[in-house]
Amino acid sequence: MPTSIIILILIAAIAALAFLLFKKTNEVKKFKGLLTKMKKAFNYLDDQAKMIVKTDVEINRAQEFLDKRLSALDTLQKTSRLISTTLDENEIFHRLKQALTTDLGFEKGLIFILDDKKNCNVRIASGLSEEEIFYITGRLEKETDLLNALKDGNTFSSPRSPFSIKEKILQIFQIEHFVLSPVLAQSGMIGAVFVGNKSNIALSDGDEEFISILANQIGQALENARLFDQVYSSSQLLELKVQERTRQLESALTEVKQISKTKSEFISAVSHELRTPLTSIKGYASILIAGKLGNVPDAVKQRLEKINIHSDNLVKLINDLLDISRIESGKVEMTMEKCRLSEMIDNVHDLLTPQIKEKSINWRMDVDPKIPDMFLDKQQAERIFINLIGNAIKFTPENGTISVKVILQDNNMVKAEVTDTGIGIPKDAITKLFDEFYRVENEINENVKGTGLGLPLAKKIVEAHGGSMWVTSKVGEGTSFHFTIPVKTEQ
Ligand code: ADP
Repeated sequence: MPTSIIILILIAAIAALAFLLFKKTNEVKKFKGLLTKMKKAFNYLDDQAKMIVKTDVEINRAQEFLDKRLSALDTLQKTSRLISTTLDENEIFHRLKQALTTDLGFEKGLIFILDDKKNCNVRIASGLSEEEIFYITGRLEKETDLLNALKDGNTFSSPRSPFSIKEKILQIFQIEHFVLSPVLAQSGMIGAVFVGNKSNIALSDGDEEFISILANQIGQALENARLFDQVYSSSQLLELKVQERTRQLESALTEVKQISKTKSEFISAVSHELRTPLTSIKGYASILIAGKLGNVPDAVKQRLEKINIHSDNLVKLINDLLDISRIESGKVEMTMEKCRLSEMIDNVHDLLTPQIKEKSINWRMDVDPKIPDMFLDKQQAERIFINLIGNAIKFTPENGTISVKVILQDNNMVKAEVTDTGIGIPKDAITKLFDEFYRVENEINENVKGTGLGLPLAKKIVEAHGGSMWVTSKVGEGTSFHFTIPVKTEQ
């Protein structure tokens, strides 16, 4: 083979090889580019993975924090419900004990209350020995600066307190992580709540907030319990006083009853003693007036007639007195008979017509026709109307009006009213009006004689029939006497 051909073949082979080399170099370059891209992608993924892990740790931490807060809030809510549903101070501390010793999750806890002498009384303690408690209270009572700072409403905690306070609390309670919060009532600080953990379990801001809320609620619950206690003891005291007063009143009433009985007996005895000689005086005066013992000069006759009139007045007074005391002591015999009220009032009107006419008084009478005939002591019942209408005439000026109205009430009682347009009765006299011998000081009473026995007697007769009597009046306008009597249609 000629050399030129060999050379050509070699050149062609070299060219082919060079082409292949060029191609491979290009491919390698391409791979290199891909490799760099992949590396970048791996780096990016690595960063992302790191970030995910970091976020996960943070989420876990936040979750843990939230769980802790939630459980704290749950405990707070439960505790506050527990302590706000009792009004007994001891029970409040009893219910707080479990919260402080286990539920809240602090290693040490203490609640103390200040007594009247400003001594610290420990009501609940957990995680502290007797000696520690004794040491803490002893120190606390001397630390007036700290107590004053608490009194101002400050809560102190290890994460946030000033260094000096932190040091002091550390010395007293011998614990590094703590919250100390005052228990406040309206009167000021009444105690404090302390919680603490050892050096490796730090407290958060949330713990401070949580303990100060709890301390507030304890203050509220204690305040309520103490107020309730005060109210309860004053109500007890009041009840005792009421009982004592009732006893005093009862014994006073018995005494009054006894005095009234003695008075009635005395009046009754005196009246009897007076009536007999008075009857003789009247009898002798009548004999003398009639001239049965010889002629009597006119001047003597006139005096004898005066003796007669005064004796009559005295007999009337004595009879009224006797009746009052008899009714009061229940000694009076009621003679019940069927009476028609309209007839009874007509009779009284007839009896008093001369006086009514003399003063030109208008007479009105309105008796409900539905009122049945009722059983009454006729003579006594008549005296009620005689006294009331007689007074109405006496205290009503000329041309005035007197009306008598009687109605039948739904409760089977008759209600009678004797109303006049007379001078009226002053307010302060109304309460004494039914007292024996009481008469209002006025011009009419100065001129017209009276005993002050008519109204008490009328009232007693009404009461003896099972009713009641009262008066309404306006000075210058008139007076109404009202009384009720139960309707009895059978004996
Ligand atoms: P007396 O009429 O004998 O004084 P009473 O017991 O009947 O005694 O009355 C007591 C007093 O009540 C009277 O003195 C009078 O002051 C007052 N009084 C009674 N009825 C009336 C009346 N209708 N209007 C004004 N005052 C009256």
